[in-house]
Amino acid sequence: MERDKNSIGPTEARRLLEERAREAGFDLVGVTRAGPLRAGGERLREWQEAGMAADMGFMHRPVELLANPKKLQKSARSVVSLGVSYYPGEHPENTEGGGRVARYAWGRDYHEVIKERLFRLRRQLEEDLGTKIKARGFTDAVPLLERSAAQHAGLGFFGRNSCLIDGDIGSYFFIADLIVDLDLKPDEPGTGTCGRCTRCMARCPTGAIKAPGVVDARLCISYLTIENSGEIPRELRPKVGDWAFGCDVCQEVCPYNKTKATKSRWPEFSAKSGAGPYLGVEEALRIRTDEEFEGRFAGTPLTRPGRAGLLRNCCVAAGNLRSEGAIPALEECLREDPSELVRGHAAWALGEIGGSEGTLREAARRETDGWCLGEIRLALGRAATDAGLG
Ligand code: SF4
Ligand code: SF4
Repeated sequence: MERDKNSIGPTEARRLLEERAREAGFDLVGVTRAGPLRAGGERLREWQEAGMAADMGFMHRPVELLANPKKLQKSARSVVSLGVSYYPGEHPENTEGGGRVARYAWGRDYHEVIKERLFRLRRQLEEDLGTKIKARGFTDAVPLLERSAAQHAGLGFFGRNSCLIDGDIGSYFFIADLIVDLDLKPDEPGTGTCGRCTRCMARCPTGAIKAPGVVDARLCISYLTIENSGEIPRELRPKVGDWAFGCDVCQEVCPYNKTKATKSRWPEFSAKSGAGPYLGVEEALRIRTDEEFEGRFAGTPLTRPGRAGLLRNCCVAAGNLRSEGAIPALEECLREDPSELVRGHAAWALGEIGGSEGTLREAARRETDGWCLGEIRLALGRAATDAGLG
């Protein structure tokens, strides 16, 4: 017979949750009541109003919806926040001219991997407590202010880089949530401080951290290379460096990560399980169809920007690396790629590397897209300047 939920003590349920979540491999466990996330909601409103959410549709939804777990599940009583380290180690040196991949994306797609374990955890709790639990489980997938909920649940404090930082494992961790119709003893909110440190703000390549904890997505390399479906603005391209997917700089420089980052115990997040720390730029630049793209990257986070987005990023990385080995693949992109986004960024990269004026001139005669033609002409202008003729 099913046990009445109201007869389950919140302390007993919280203890069981801790035990089972640790067994399931989660590094951090916390609980907060399913009420509105007021402070997080206010921060979000200011950020939206300043236009810093760029064109990320899911971040433009009304704050009342984004910051209230009960909007996601009416019967919600508690939000369980779980943290799991994805830290796969440090990037090896970029000796092959690869496109750098943010650490969270070296392995398999975390959405799928974590969702499986979340559902298993719920089933286990149902068995232990002898009652059905109405729950919604997600990670980075629904419009709840996950980081805010996690901070309320004691999983860390907000650093000046806007990441949630845990005093024991740093900030390289995924957050997953279970919204449940169960009373669980809540935890104290996470506390901690950056002290006088401002390293992330000083070292961000694009100056995207406008104030402590405030990241302007329009300037952030993570946004520009993942969520952004358009061009990477010309003035920002040189600052993207060799990043082809995401950016870790503001986490790499953080003293908490330097001393506390803990290697993930989940094999799915290791470099061997997915794309690893660098993309082979030349190989990626030769992917011409969505089918090929899926065949190469399915099951990893790298599918997120789509084929054209990822090739755009590879063009920018190759241009910044002045990668002469990538010239043939970039020239093929300029001649053959069906996406003007890719052709335009390939032109830019060829202009940066130099030596492809003939191909650029030929492309200028053939190109019908106005923006792309502009990129080709600017690349030719760059070549002329470099040759001392401009
Ligand atoms: S992810 Fe990179 S670009 Fe974005 S705020 Fe951090 S350091 Fe700056
Ligand atoms: S780098 Fe320094 S300022 Fe930035 S989040 Fe880490 S501790 Fe805070």
